[in-house]
Amino acid sequence: PVHAPAPHVVLLTSPGAGHVLPVAEFATRLAADHGFTATIVTYTNLSSPAHNSPLASLPPCVSVAALPEVPLDDLPADAHVLTRIFTVVNRTLPHLRDLLRSLLDSPSGVAAFLTDMLCPAALAVARELRVPRYVFYTSSLISLVSLLYTPELARTTTCECRYLPEPVVLPGCVPLHGADLVEPVQNRSDPVYPLMVDLGINYLLADGFIVNTFDAMEHETLVAFKELSDRGVYPPVYAVGPFIRSVSADAGCKHSCLRWLDEQPEGSVLYVSFGSGGSLSMEQTAELAAGLEASEQKFLWVVHFPSDKDRSAGYFGTSADHAGNDPLSYLPDGFVERTSGTGLAVPLWAPQVEILNHPAVGGFLSHCGWNSALESAAAGVPMVAWPLFAEQRVNAVLVSSDRVGLALWERPSSATSVDNDGVVVPRGEVAELARELMVGKKGALARKKAGQVRDGAEMALAPGGPQRRALAAVISKWKAPVMTDDNHQPH
Ligand code: UDP
Repeated sequence: PVHAPAPHVVLLTSPGAGHVLPVAEFATRLAADHGFTATIVTYTNLSSPAHNSPLASLPPCVSVAALPEVPLDDLPADAHVLTRIFTVVNRTLPHLRDLLRSLLDSPSGVAAFLTDMLCPAALAVARELRVPRYVFYTSSLISLVSLLYTPELARTTTCECRYLPEPVVLPGCVPLHGADLVEPVQNRSDPVYPLMVDLGINYLLADGFIVNTFDAMEHETLVAFKELSDRGVYPPVYAVGPFIRSVSADAGCKHSCLRWLDEQPEGSVLYVSFGSGGSLSMEQTAELAAGLEASEQKFLWVVHFPSDKDRSAGYFGTSADHAGNDPLSYLPDGFVERTSGTGLAVPLWAPQVEILNHPAVGGFLSHCGWNSALESAAAGVPMVAWPLFAEQRVNAVLVSSDRVGLALWERPSSATSVDNDGVVVPRGEVAELARELMVGKKGALARKKAGQVRDGAEMALAPGGPQRRALAAVISKWKAPVMTDDNHQPH
């Protein structure tokens, strides 16, 4: 008998480890557990080999296609990173259309097209080609809700959102101060602002949102969102989280920092990391170092090159500026030597999931990138939230809210600060927060809550549990697609 080819899904990922990693994981999972073949579509612009490394170890039924590089030299040198990404997404649409067409003409066809959170403009191409289309949203549902609200924010207000007199109350969400809304909507005169409005509109081209979240993290928001979906306001949401990497079984290439952790007492180490691209200013790096030292807590700090210009400098293109340099050389004089008994500074990258699940780790000072927040939650590790840019402040509000209580965080009193630029957290505050998390009362409460959220994560992941059911619900649509042409319109 002639077998029909396995159903094929196409997943589009924007550049950056925080996007490529979960998309690669999701494609692998669809292939391994659900019999799909997959094509991961990447951008050549803004990509780095390090961030694309997860693509090197995909199973054979998952292939990679890179869209060709497009010129960006007309953008100003200081264009927001999202302006760059959205420009790449828009300019490569014809190439994406060609790729999807050729896949549609091949025996495998295309059962569904998924884009990550930054490329929903590409959903228009899938609609045009009548392919079922979904957003694989790898941040919090509250941040998606806030982005869906951006067009309304732009329409109904005139001031910069940080001056809004009242917090924004979105359905099922912790109230968000205007200054806590995603960083690229903080400045109306930045060219990224109208692109953020487009983002909010383009999301509604989706047939559904596959969101990397779970009930214990975002119960109320999920309930409220489902009600709105049932009323046709939004496409349906599928909570497939916590979708995170598992601890690597490869003990052979154990990172030296894990061997260092093996020597430390249980729950004694504060892990400090700002994700794959977060960068602190020179002054903030010095204050953080001094604060960690003064806290007298053990720490494991993944140190990036400092940047006085850009909190997200570590993401794109700047490492070449530092070629041959060591980020640890930017730490205060004598810091590494003085703290050698209590702390470990690691340059650039460390195996985070393994670290968070190591028994010696008792806290996480985190920029609140969503993958980091989920990994911390699933490991039951409480956090100090130190958001830098993008939607990290929204995530920080969520994880430090009474409902979730995983993190210690207070909004800086300078409500006008948007992404901590120019606002330096002094060493005394760092030391106090580190101590409070590791040995204080609030830290103990957060640890208890983190344990509950970890149980919630385990429940979500249990065989036949919510994650499996949500995945099965959306996958069943791809295996027997029913096309609809009526799209959800902005209300
Ligand atoms: N990561 C890691 N080691 C590092 C920095 C990051 O393994 O030194 C991983 C981390 O575990 C997470 C991802 O990279 O899965 C970062 O994603 P997140 O959403 O937290 O932040 P982003 O890097 O997108 O700002």
